[in-house]
Amino acid sequence: MSLHYLPAARQAELVRRREVSARELAEAHLGRIAALDGDLGTYLHVDADGARARANEIDRAVARRDDVGSLGGVPVALKDIFVTRAVPTTAGSRILDGWRPPYDATVVARLRQAGAVILGKLNMDEFAMGSSNENSAFRPCKNPWDRARVPGGSSGGSAASVAAGLAAASLGTDTGGSVRQPASLSGVVGVKPTYGRVSRYGVIAFASSLDQVGPLGRTVEDAALLLEVIAGHDPLDATSIPAIVPRYRDDVARGADGLGGLVVGLPREYFVPGMDAEVERAVRAAVAGLETLGARVREIALPHTEYAVACYYLVATAEASSNLARYDGVRYGLRRGDAGALADMYAETRGAGFGAEVKRRIMLGTYVLRSGYYDAYYRKAQQVRTLIKRDFERAFAEVDVVATPVSPTPAFRLGEKTGDPLAMYLADIFTISAPLAGLPAMSVPCGFTAAGLPIGLQLIGRTLDEPTLFRVAGAYEAANEWTTRRPCP
Ligand code: GLN
Repeated sequence: MSLHYLPAARQAELVRRREVSARELAEAHLGRIAALDGDLGTYLHVDADGARARANEIDRAVARRDDVGSLGGVPVALKDIFVTRAVPTTAGSRILDGWRPPYDATVVARLRQAGAVILGKLNMDEFAMGSSNENSAFRPCKNPWDRARVPGGSSGGSAASVAAGLAAASLGTDTGGSVRQPASLSGVVGVKPTYGRVSRYGVIAFASSLDQVGPLGRTVEDAALLLEVIAGHDPLDATSIPAIVPRYRDDVARGADGLGGLVVGLPREYFVPGMDAEVERAVRAAVAGLETLGARVREIALPHTEYAVACYYLVATAEASSNLARYDGVRYGLRRGDAGALADMYAETRGAGFGAEVKRRIMLGTYVLRSGYYDAYYRKAQQVRTLIKRDFERAFAEVDVVATPVSPTPAFRLGEKTGDPLAMYLADIFTISAPLAGLPAMSVPCGFTAAGLPIGLQLIGRTLDEPTLFRVAGAYEAANEWTTRRPCP
């Protein structure tokens, strides 16, 4: 198999054994990016010099027989929402165009420390608002399985780059589905950890009570490997949980022993009329597959699911309007000194501020927080959020993991939903609840439509029970190797 389709864990092993150099891996990926990314649009910035320099360092360390870390020499890429020292960071927005942050996000520092070679920054919806990557202020990103279709969003570049072999693995963020949905639509594994499991320090904020960093990989083991590196308490993020980080890769391996003793919950509210028939068939077949592996399947109820989208779009826009107030054009510019201020003013006069979706959300969020409306909208949404959380608490008294579709449809056509924001919001129905409840969830490939579009299975777990998600996904993947073997065209 060509280097760029090897699992990240395998790439790390080859570097450690000196069978492949970090530099060779970097060049293989940079070459592929140069050949394919002009059309695919997965990257917003490629840091070729930085990647080569780091790869050389790793190779020197390997030659000295130093420990190069669990990701030593592995080329990874980052959603452009993670601040990276001296490397452009835009969050997909013109308003940050040209900014080179003075520090690294905690997750970036941890990746570097584990030996990762960072290839660059990936395309995304502006400020992570979207489900198709079409809200990027810079360029669209295409689905590598069918370039007339979206890769999903908002971490579209994170999913498409990994699917197409333009990075061994990547990081995204998930507020209402932005890791799991693009993973599903692009045929890769994506994990949204428990709220607080991973530090948000240096992650450009969208909705702070929901945002969570998550890994994307072509295999379950790769996602586990990345999560081991980035998870854990961070004194710089007051919401990060001081719990030890398990060896998630052991849970993946444990999947090989089957799923005896495990109870899987199938929520009836997640199989709705109007959902794509091929998606429903693939997800039901996957759940039957879990049964074959020894799990027991039980139907459950999550009765407040129908309010999740409305609840999310109140909470998320309210928090976004507060977080995004800091980009007030004038003050933001002045703090950065005269040159920055002038550049900002220039950008503003060209009309290059926030895009339409970001403006829509700031206005909606400001509206629902207004005195007089606060009780009717924001407080009500917080109450509904509690009910959604309780639905899961009740369910997890009976089952160990909940299995659902990730998205009601496979990847849709570029432009298909851009004229109808509400239709785009409604498509988030299956991914919205887990972050509202703070729970860990992941997307694992579970098949293809007749037209060859990937389909994902969602697994939702108890708080901090990522180990069970990895065990189930590991077992499923091992029993259905085709899910990772079928190369992206
Ligand atoms: N699609 C959802 C939204 O537009 C989720 C985005 C996200 O998780 N960042 O808000």
